[in-house]
Amino acid sequence: MAAMTKEWLGGTTIFAEMSALALRTGAINLGQGFPDTDGPESVREAAVRALRDGRGNQYPPGPGVPELRTAVADHQRRRYGLTYDPDTEILVTAGATEAIAATLLALVGPGDEVIALEPYYDSYAACIGMAGGVRVPVTLRPRDGAYHLDLDELRDAVTDRTRLILLNTPHNPTGTVLTRAELAAVAELAVERDLLVVTDEVYEHLVLDGEHLPLASFPGMRERTLTISSAGKTFSFTGWKVGWVTGVPALVTAVRSAKQFLTYVASGPFQYAIAEALSLPDSYFDTLRADLRVKRDILADGLTAAGFDVYRPAGTYFITTDIRPLGETDGFAFCRALPERCGVVAIPNAVFYDHEKEGAPFVRFAFCKRDEVLREAAERLRGLRDSA
Ligand code: PMP
Ligand code: GLN
Repeated sequence: MAAMTKEWLGGTTIFAEMSALALRTGAINLGQGFPDTDGPESVREAAVRALRDGRGNQYPPGPGVPELRTAVADHQRRRYGLTYDPDTEILVTAGATEAIAATLLALVGPGDEVIALEPYYDSYAACIGMAGGVRVPVTLRPRDGAYHLDLDELRDAVTDRTRLILLNTPHNPTGTVLTRAELAAVAELAVERDLLVVTDEVYEHLVLDGEHLPLASFPGMRERTLTISSAGKTFSFTGWKVGWVTGVPALVTAVRSAKQFLTYVASGPFQYAIAEALSLPDSYFDTLRADLRVKRDILADGLTAAGFDVYRPAGTYFITTDIRPLGETDGFAFCRALPERCGVVAIPNAVFYDHEKEGAPFVRFAFCKRDEVLREAAERLRGLRDSA
């Protein structure tokens, strides 16, 4: 057999590993980010209706069903004042995961450099690798209770081989939401150095403090930005895998070309349901955020009481913690032992780093769970010091 030369082959994602550990041990799973309550009943019913009415049961159109492309266009215009042509500037994908893969496969060639914010979502590294690209991490570092982007470091990371910047805001796993000033600086740099930017905004509706600012809305960015989002987090249906990419026709066409040979199409009936979901009233989105703020506070307070240093997130449904105050330094070992020690599962942030050492003492907890589950987890974590 040919040698397995690709670093991502033969492995299991940390999310699968930790969810399996939770199942095996019966621990509360605050690892993989999925809600323990499904999204709105009306959206679920819309999917049932589509299935029954025979909409989407056969291959939907390659770019996505027109209803969903129109709904995405309306959403971008209503929320952010960004206009996209549903026919040429919007592509529906199998979740953001496929959008990321297709985008990188379409745009990145062997030896091209991709600048990405570290710690980064695990599929970025794999997809840059599959495209033959070289990842260039720019590390977000904790300061004053939050993670920050070092703009000088970002600027220094750009070389003649830089193909694109891969941004993620709100940011998984740190919970950081890039500020207007940071985004403006990224935009200026991209314009000055004539770079493409791919921005992963799957947590756009999970901004808990402040507001979401799409990079494409900054001066000079619409024509050089591909924006990726998906329905999983916004509507609490992570299993439906409906995502989308928006950008100018030439870029979206390139992504579509790659996407045709990945899934070709996916999630037929769910596309119709998400088209309806995107036009839910503002109250839906406001309630989602208000509920998540309560959950964040329950878990953040619980983690603080348990002795962790807590980076209270401005967005996403993840909390990054520092385990050093508990006398621990190795997040991997800590997470592998945590179910036995106190019946909770978490994710070691080191997996999101090239510089694993830099991420070693950080551990991520998801709070997209029922309040009583979070309270129980907080209670269990309080026992940690005794089990040391
Ligand atoms: N990007 C980030 C930053 C994520 O956290 C996730 C996980 N939801 C994805 C992309 C993948 O999204 P999807 O489930 O829509 O494929
Ligand atoms: N995005 C989810 C997380 O960060 C996991 C998705 C997956 O398992 N690939 O937890």
